[in-house]
Amino acid sequence: MISPKEAQDKVLERAKTTKTEVFLLESLNLVLSENITSEDDIPAYDNSAMDGYALIAKDTKGANASPVSLKLLDVDIPAGKIPLTNLEHGSCMAIMTGAPIPNNCDAVIRKEDTKKIGTEILACKQCEAGENIRRKGEDIKKGEVALQKDKKIFAADIGVLASLGKMNIPVYRPPVVGIISTGDEIIPIDKKLSIGRVRDSNSYSLSAQLKELGIEYIPFGIVKDNQKAMCQKIMEGLSKCDILLLSGGVSVGDYDFVKETLIGLGAELIFWKVNQKPGKPLVFLTYGDQYIFGLPGNPVSVMVCFEMYVRPLIKKIIGDRDLFRPRVIAKAAHEFINKKGRVHFARVRLVKKEGRYFFCSTGMQGSGILTSLSRADGIAVFGEQAGNIQKGMKAEIFILKDS
Ligand code: AMP
Ligand code: MG
Repeated sequence: MISPKEAQDKVLERAKTTKTEVFLLESLNLVLSENITSEDDIPAYDNSAMDGYALIAKDTKGANASPVSLKLLDVDIPAGKIPLTNLEHGSCMAIMTGAPIPNNCDAVIRKEDTKKIGTEILACKQCEAGENIRRKGEDIKKGEVALQKDKKIFAADIGVLASLGKMNIPVYRPPVVGIISTGDEIIPIDKKLSIGRVRDSNSYSLSAQLKELGIEYIPFGIVKDNQKAMCQKIMEGLSKCDILLLSGGVSVGDYDFVKETLIGLGAELIFWKVNQKPGKPLVFLTYGDQYIFGLPGNPVSVMVCFEMYVRPLIKKIIGDRDLFRPRVIAKAAHEFINKKGRVHFARVRLVKKEGRYFFCSTGMQGSGILTSLSRADGIAVFGEQAGNIQKGMKAEIFILKDS
């Protein structure tokens, strides 16, 4: 059986990026596949950084000691208006934030630093040349690379792209992910529970994990443990998706048909079974340039396998350099009973005390106990040879929540 690390490598070495263009807002959290060069100076013209009066700086000499009087011209400059009158020595014009600077003006005095007496403005502060003027191109120059290829796009970058007038953004194409739940006992979540019935939580937890990544997902619903029905659903999924996530039916039970069905359809088996807990029967296959995961059906296994294998694959496909969750080294707050021989992904709460992280169990750790994950801040990794974890021993924790 391969180790989780080997399994991750086998998944990640198959990740391929392709390029596309998406509408501006759709590019959030994706990665640029080209440099973005500005076709404009930003700002496009010298403009005022303040509401105040446009003036000639020299005219305010000595104003700190005794205010200097300036003649207020009968033209004001709101943002958006092009000033046509030239400033002359001893005069000033009312100007608003963002408005173009008039000819001859080399400074703007803040309204707060003046007093208005009729048509006269008293400047109470000496201005320096250039004061409160935002220069043409001071943010981004025409012809400059504003955002570099391979940069991840955050909210502020969307603003930068918008200011450059970019509507279609070159990015690495995000995959579309299909979700199929399998199992005769699985019912839609609006149905009543009875003996032998389990609500389909996996479709929703996987959808949520994809939604958190900003990745498009298509839920294909529930399919029975029946190879014919499975074939149809899988082919439908493969016709619409780049990655297919099936849950359930990958273990050694008499009705676990997923792996055989996929191989029967021509998918190439890359690995089956990983030396881990939870999620041992994980299966990974490729179908041309599509990727298929058969996730073990237990709700915790599904989500942990998504975290450890599916999420990093998607991150690599979209060109993100940070494939994994942020990690911290923390100390066990109590003893953990842990069997040797398998890597254990334990669900833990993180507590910070005097600048140091400690982790404690979120309770029962069975792979069907989904609350062990909903209560968790992170996943602790106990190595194959770790055995029991004594209080105070260190482990690496993948942080799942940022608040
Ligand atoms: P399997 O991997 O098919 O053997 O399923 C393992 C366990 O996960 C069983 O107890 C199933 O009832 C449960 N299970 C499978 N699929 C789902 C699902 N979509 N939602 C919730 N539980 C599931
Ligand atoms: Mg099943």
